[in-house]
Amino acid sequence: MSSPTPVTPIDAPAGSIGERLGGPRVPVDDALVRRLEEVCPVVEVDGRSRAEAGRDWWPIAISWAVSGKVPAMPAAVAKPAAAQELAAVLRCCHEARVPVTAMAGRSGVCGSSVPVFGGIALDLCAMAGLREVDDVSLLAEALPGTFGPDLEEALRGRGVTLGHWPQSMALSTVGGWLACRGAGQYSTRYGKIEDMVVGLEVALADGRLIRTGGTGPRAATGPDLTQLFVGSEGVLGVITSALLRLHPVPADERRAAYLFPDFVAGLSACRTILRRGATPAVLRLYDAVESKRNFDVDGHSTLIVLDEADPALLEATMALVSEEVGASGGEVGDPALVDRWMEHRNDVSALAPLYRAGIVVDTIEVAGRWSVLGRLYEDAVRAVGEVPGTLVASAHQSHSYPDGACLYFTFAGRHPESGGEDPDVADEGHRRWAEGYYAAAWEAVMGVVERHGAAISHHHGIGVNRARFMAPALGEAFSVLRACKEALDPRGILNPGKLGLPSPFGEVPWP
Ligand SMILES: Cc1cc2nc3c(=O)[nH]c(=O)nc-3n(C[C@H](O)[C@H](O)[C@H](O)COP(=O)(O)OP(=O)(O)OC[C@H]3O[C@@H](n4cnc5c(N)ncnc54)[C@H](O)[C@@H]3O)c2cc1C
Repeated sequence: MSSPTPVTPIDAPAGSIGERLGGPRVPVDDALVRRLEEVCPVVEVDGRSRAEAGRDWWPIAISWAVSGKVPAMPAAVAKPAAAQELAAVLRCCHEARVPVTAMAGRSGVCGSSVPVFGGIALDLCAMAGLREVDDVSLLAEALPGTFGPDLEEALRGRGVTLGHWPQSMALSTVGGWLACRGAGQYSTRYGKIEDMVVGLEVALADGRLIRTGGTGPRAATGPDLTQLFVGSEGVLGVITSALLRLHPVPADERRAAYLFPDFVAGLSACRTILRRGATPAVLRLYDAVESKRNFDVDGHSTLIVLDEADPALLEATMALVSEEVGASGGEVGDPALVDRWMEHRNDVSALAPLYRAGIVVDTIEVAGRWSVLGRLYEDAVRAVGEVPGTLVASAHQSHSYPDGACLYFTFAGRHPESGGEDPDVADEGHRRWAEGYYAAAWEAVMGVVERHGAAISHHHGIGVNRARFMAPALGEAFSVLRACKEALDPRGILNPGKLGLPSPFGEVPWP
């Protein structure tokens, strides 16, 4: 069975690990811990377990790990192995009015599983595996703590695949994909996680277990309650199983690479490819900075295309791609660039060493209409570039649709007065600069996104980091989300402080 992969070690002994995020912590008394021990097979209260449950892959938190801190720690970690045990944990927390935060892979990059007000961490990793595979209907029921490689291995043993390949495949779980509304790298062919889910079992805040969907390929039985929980980041309920759509393992694969004089010309090709109905699994366009960094290509934007399907479909798709690339001014590149992308696509080792060298780095994925995408790209790269300390700002297009696409920005900065020397990253002054720079870079991109009427996240979600941008992004519709939260979790115990929602326990202390 897989388990979470921490982003970097915490540089402190277990007993002296601190918390970076201030704000109130809800007390958990011994009586509650004893009750949890009665209903749940594993309840951990040791310092190391609590610290690991107090962080995820939120990049700025790497700089805190270097000085022996995590964002915020729970008082105890409960590890149910079955839905009934999980429901019983929720009942105890509901009665005691104690926060409870679901988590599994802890690979979120916005702090969404960080228990900001303490309370109980609900670790779902023991609830793993497949419950059922219906290979006639191409459906499987998976438990929430199933990690990506374990899921695909079990499915491929039956000749089927889910087709969900996030970069964090090895780090993340089925429940996390659904809770964050994730997107895989092959999503143009297989869809995003919301297209793959047919039904859910969900534990509500008071411990009731409900089922949504799952009765057929579609139902006109009122609004789609399954989708209410997809992207809800553990604030409306805890997913205890998911019925997922499958595909036969593809018969064949094709690869191609193209070069464009600039990023906007490449965007135009992606737009028209989707507009004509082709859906190559991978259609990723890198700007000149990222083309140089990833592929050693000078002065061009690079388009990576990969598809897998029935050979007849592949021929038609690749022919159409080639036609549209030509029409937008692209030229054929070396197909070995796709092999290079395949080799490095899930390499996540670079992040922590950069932070340890004093470089603040993060990625920001947003989505917008084709009609604004070129300007959104140029304005956002310029806006981050103007934040003092920025070394580089770049982007690629990672997911295309007929109406628009996801732009995935990367920025990196270093203290302008560091003179190129590695600073003492555990120093308080460096921490203050790093947080200030980080917040300013995010605000620069979010401001541009708001001006262009685009979406503040395409697939990483909201967590702690984007919470402050949520109410303006949703406008009056935010009141509907608040009403859902109040109806489903009237005591506000489920992952409080997330999605920008108000919490009975206080304000989220970030930034
Ligand atoms: C290097 C790297 C690359 C990444 N690439 C991608 C990518 O390509 N595509 C993508 O979509 N994301 C990507 N991510 C982000 C992250 O991996 C995803 O958000 C992932 O879906 C989180 O899954 P997890 O199991 O780690 O969830 P966690 O981090 O443990 O939790 C994330 C959120 O989901 C909630 N949650 C978890 N399980 C449940 C449940 N059963 N019921 C209710 N709520 C639950 C938690 O409360 C929290 O709010 C990447 C992250 C990293 C570090």
